[in-house]
Parts: sequence; structure tokens; C-alpha cells
Amino acid sequence: MREKFLPYCRQEVQPEDIAAVTRVLESDWLTTGPTVEAFEQAFAREVGARFAVAFSSGTAALHGAMFAAGVGPGDEVIVPTLTFCASANSAAYLGARPVLAEVDPERLNLDPDRLPLSEATRAVTAVHYAGHPAPLERLRALCDERKLVLVQDACHALGATYRGQPLQSYGDLVCYSFHPAKHITTGEGGMVATDSEEHQRRLKTFRNHGITSEARHRAEKGQFYYEMQVLGYNYRLSDISCALGLSQLGRHHQGLARRRELARAYREALPALVQTPPDDPESGWHLYPVRLDHRDRVAARLREERIGTQVHYIPVHLHPYYQETYGYRAGDFPVAEAAYARLLSLPMFGSMTLEDLEDVVSALRRALA
Ligand SMILES: *Cc1c(COP(=O)(O)O)cnc(C)c1O
Repeated sequence: MREKFLPYCRQEVQPEDIAAVTRVLESDWLTTGPTVEAFEQAFAREVGARFAVAFSSGTAALHGAMFAAGVGPGDEVIVPTLTFCASANSAAYLGARPVLAEVDPERLNLDPDRLPLSEATRAVTAVHYAGHPAPLERLRALCDERKLVLVQDACHALGATYRGQPLQSYGDLVCYSFHPAKHITTGEGGMVATDSEEHQRRLKTFRNHGITSEARHRAEKGQFYYEMQVLGYNYRLSDISCALGLSQLGRHHQGLARRRELARAYREALPALVQTPPDDPESGWHLYPVRLDHRDRVAARLREERIGTQVHYIPVHLHPYYQETYGYRAGDFPVAEAAYARLLSLPMFGSMTLEDLEDVVSALRRALA
């Protein structure tokens, strides 16, 4: 048995990250200084976007994207039910109705043939579950045809591509999270990438109380006057956080390569009783969710062997808030519920070793025996 607990995910912080953060702590700007812009520009280049706007979390980024998309009361936003609740909450924050959707049984993403579209649909939020891109070509065509905004919740999918193209090329607003469980971290943090100058402007205003100029730029010009033009929030990400993000971004490709190597190794080594996730070389592999019987018992046995796991996700429509507020009930989305009953995310992170993986596989064999 392992001596040390293996978590299902773990951040990787190197001495160079700590040095980068220390340099900012010793500088003139702890927040909304030059490092925010440097991180935004490097991130935009990385994902192939014209612009990127940093937010204080992935959830704030999704909220900002909904605002930029013009979502408001009376609108409906389609969201798959098998996701983290923040994907759907972002529409609710603006008074819109999150309309939950069934997922396809294999990839567990939105099924373009089964979208609950209506006259009120304003946007579609495509979650790239575990890092596997949603069917972006069809979703893009559908959104174009009906003049809907396509928001991508790419919190699992930094570095993923779809049919050889970056996620960004399918538009419109692509949201990322830098929570420590994700590919790169800023502690808490997020980003919205977009090719639209208008979206960029709305995102920057929204994250700064609805104020149309930034304190640093005013200070440089010796101006006091500012205008609050819309109801925004303080969703800014600090220079301290952005220094960590910028440093982490430099090693992102190594982490992604390791995740892809681990996914291949899991697929070869896992016993037949375990249903492996889709074999997609373009996936970002944030998670490695397998499906198996007696999930809770297996998870408890793995924990006894010091192997951490997690369940992604409790479908959104099963949460009491969604049942009380929107009238959803158990049984509404049988595919997502059947998947949820059997899903278990095995350890997967950018600094996990193949020896760690062998420990997981042998513990899993014992747990299933
Ligand atoms: C992590 C995550 C979020 C929220 O990100 P935070 O940075 O934790 O706010 C939203 N959607 C999905 C799919 C996520 O995995």
C-alpha cells in the first residue's frame, strides 16, 4: 500500500512561481497593475484569442460572459445538467432562466439533437466535460442559424482542440478557471477569452463595478473622474495572482502532455470491469472519470488504500435549489442520472507519475475483486 495519500487532483507550484509572486509583492502594484495585462495577453496568445479578460474566479468569468452576451430577465440559457452548478448559476445571477439539458451517453456533453430550444433561448453554454470538447461545429452552426451566443465553459479544457482547431475558433466567449484543481492555478481565478472588442469592453467594465476606466490608468493621467455606467461587481484578479498564473502558463504544455500520457496508460491498464472515458487525443483531460458498478463501495476501498477519488458531477437538476426554484425532479434526465450513479474520477494531474498510476490500477483491481 502507498505511504502517502494520492489526491484525485493537485496543483503544482515550482520555485520559479514563488519567485514571480515575490517580485510582484515587492513592486508598486499588488492589484490591477501591469501583471494582469501581461497574463491576459499571454493567455490570449496561448488560446488563440484576440482578447482575454481576467476574473477573480471561473464562476465570475462565467457571470461576466453571460453579461457580455447580453443575457437578462426573460432569457433562457441552455446548460447541460451534468456539470458543476456554477455553469448554470451564471445565467441565474442575471435573472435569466438556466434551462438544463440531457447529455449524450458517451461523452457526457450537450447533445445538439436534444437541445431544449425555445423562442426565449438567448445563449447556449457548452461545457467540455472532463476536457472532451462538446460538438462545437454543430453547436456553432445552430447558434449562427438562431442568432444565439455560444458560451464555452472550458474550465476542464485548457489546451483541448476540436477537429484540429482551437476551441476559440468556434467562439463566442470561452471561460476558464484557475482553481488549484484545474490545469494551471492562480489560487482562485478565471479568464474569458473572446475575439470581440465589444465583448472585451463589456467584460472589463463588468469586473470593475461597471466603471468604464481603470484606477491605474486614471492615476497615471492624474485624473479623478470616473463613471459607473452599468451594475458590475468587484471581480478583479490581483497582480499577485496573475504573476502565479503567468508563471504557471509557461509550463502548461508539459502538464497537458503528462495528462494525455496518463490517459493512454489508464486506458491500457484498467481492468475490463471499468468503463474508460472516450479515447480522444484532443481532450484537455482535466479529469479521468471512469464508470463502474458499486461506485461508492469502490471509492471507500480506494480511500483505505490512500487513493483519492471524486464524483463529477451531481447533476444540477438534483440540487434542492434547482428543484425548488425551477421545478426540476429526479428522473428528468435519465442519461445524466445513470452516468452519475456510476461515475468516479480517478487521480489525474500534471505532476502525477506513472508509478502513481500503477498504484491506482492495482488498488482498483483489489477493490473490484
Ligand atoms: C471549476 C469549474 C467552474 C468554476 O470555477 P471556479 O474557479 O471554481 O469558480 C465552473 N465550471 C466548471 C465546469 C468547473 O469545473
